[in-house]
Amino acid sequence: MTHGRPAKQVTHWINGAEVAGGSARRAEIFNPATGEVGGHVHLAGPEDVDAAVAAAAAAFPAWRDASLMKRAQVLFRFRELMYGHRDELAALISAEHGKVHSDALGEVARGLEVVEFACGIPHLLKGGFSENVSTNVDSFSIRQPLGVVAGITPFNFPAMVPMWMYPIAIACGNTFVLKPSERDPSAALLMASLWKQAGLPDGVFNVVQGDKVAVDRLLEHPDVRAVSFVGSTPIARYVYETGTRHGKRVQALGGAKNHMLVLPDADLDLVADAAVNAGFGSAGERCMAISVVLAVDPVGDELVDKIVQRVSTLTIGPGDDPDAQMGPLVTGAHRDKVASYLDTALAEGAKLVVDGRETLVKGGATAAETPGFWLGPTVIDQVKPGSAVHRDEIFGPVLSVVRVSSYDEGLQIINDVEYGNGTAIFTNDGGAARRFQNEVEVGMVGINVPIPVPMAFYSFGGWKSSLFGDTHVHGAEGVHFYTRGKVVTSRWLDPSHGGVNLGFPTNK
Ligand code: NAD
Repeated sequence: MTHGRPAKQVTHWINGAEVAGGSARRAEIFNPATGEVGGHVHLAGPEDVDAAVAAAAAAFPAWRDASLMKRAQVLFRFRELMYGHRDELAALISAEHGKVHSDALGEVARGLEVVEFACGIPHLLKGGFSENVSTNVDSFSIRQPLGVVAGITPFNFPAMVPMWMYPIAIACGNTFVLKPSERDPSAALLMASLWKQAGLPDGVFNVVQGDKVAVDRLLEHPDVRAVSFVGSTPIARYVYETGTRHGKRVQALGGAKNHMLVLPDADLDLVADAAVNAGFGSAGERCMAISVVLAVDPVGDELVDKIVQRVSTLTIGPGDDPDAQMGPLVTGAHRDKVASYLDTALAEGAKLVVDGRETLVKGGATAAETPGFWLGPTVIDQVKPGSAVHRDEIFGPVLSVVRVSSYDEGLQIINDVEYGNGTAIFTNDGGAARRFQNEVEVGMVGINVPIPVPMAFYSFGGWKSSLFGDTHVHGAEGVHFYTRGKVVTSRWLDPSHGGVNLGFPTNK
């Protein structure tokens, strides 16, 4: 009980209804702003996963055969319902993740772009047709759904990342099982109920709450044809290797360490704005956050001053406070891990220019003294390339500055990093920017844009250890991932085509 009320219980969603499931395992859901437990999430056992997959498998034949127009109409209705419930969805996200309301609304908006893209499925699934590839023979290509597909998603975007996957999977005629992060599981249930209101048949969209147990069952289940995963690199690698070993199509997006290369000709006020926005938005818990600024000599001192000045103006507070620009981190354990890098930085000889433990949380005390999972924006200067602070994905409000002497040195540092998710160059030199877009080994590149997240009609994905598999999410690659190609060669026979001929078919 919390304050006399029964604690929230977050369950599964199977075959169009909330289901408690057979497993007695539960995990706590925290309110990151206070540190209190706000409820519990049911953690699926293998039998709960089997029930969700069975519901999805049973719903597949009818949904596959639903006309493209019917599927698109459900998507249009879902889009309107999601838009109408965006505040409610954002509030759920804030309460469990900690991000501020405006930021949560932003993630809903970016996710809705994928729903809007998927509304165009009748156009997106058009195939090719060639008349008379041989005399009186026609060929055409079609793309067909796979069957039951699964999505396994991280805590940092509980609405947007699932929306990278399921609108397109469902529009293509698949049925879907979502395994959201157990740290902020409620958004998935609201989305499930809105699908039902939109007229999606029961069983087409299902949610199993859980942890590794649920993930492992999805990866092994013979009826799951494809898995989309987004999360940290070690788990992405594991999901890719395990899923493909079980014969599944897998796209597994991993972690990131995104660098922003600042050339001396850049406008340093714009650069400082961009670095602060991209470094500390959502408390740095974004896979496209900028975590390293590479300052090309001689701009380092001036740029660090400008960043520090902006950081001092930020308001840190709970996600439901309209004045707050940055909220807490997701859990106490994660906050402690992120904060430990401040000591690591000092031990590695870097300079702690702004110590986020000392930041005042709105209302009074410092981050370290306030109940909840607080750490303020932190700026570390003189970080050495290859040090732990530079190398590791910290995934919190920690911005490192590395001083470099040239474009080439900066480029080399970026290309040597294990990850290749996002990057940005800030310059007024078009030639330098063009070199960068060509030479940098990163999947998503910004030119004077710090968080270059592709729109829904392009595809999202990194290189190197930021993505396992060869298909990015959403856009044309998303449609490709959730369908298989078939080519039909047809001839309508007339009597003149008779006769036996064992030769290999060639054009006539
Ligand atoms: P995570 O890897 O801990 O969890 C992701 C999912 O995997 C969750 O659903 C979780 O329940 C499940 N999981 C966790 N441990 C598992 C295990 N041992 N076996 C099987 N499944 C397991 O990631 P997170 O902490 O929730 O999210 C943050 C990470 O996600 C960061 O590394 C971030 O960069 C990454 N991310 C990447 C992108 C991208 O597009 N590349 C986008 C968002 C987040």
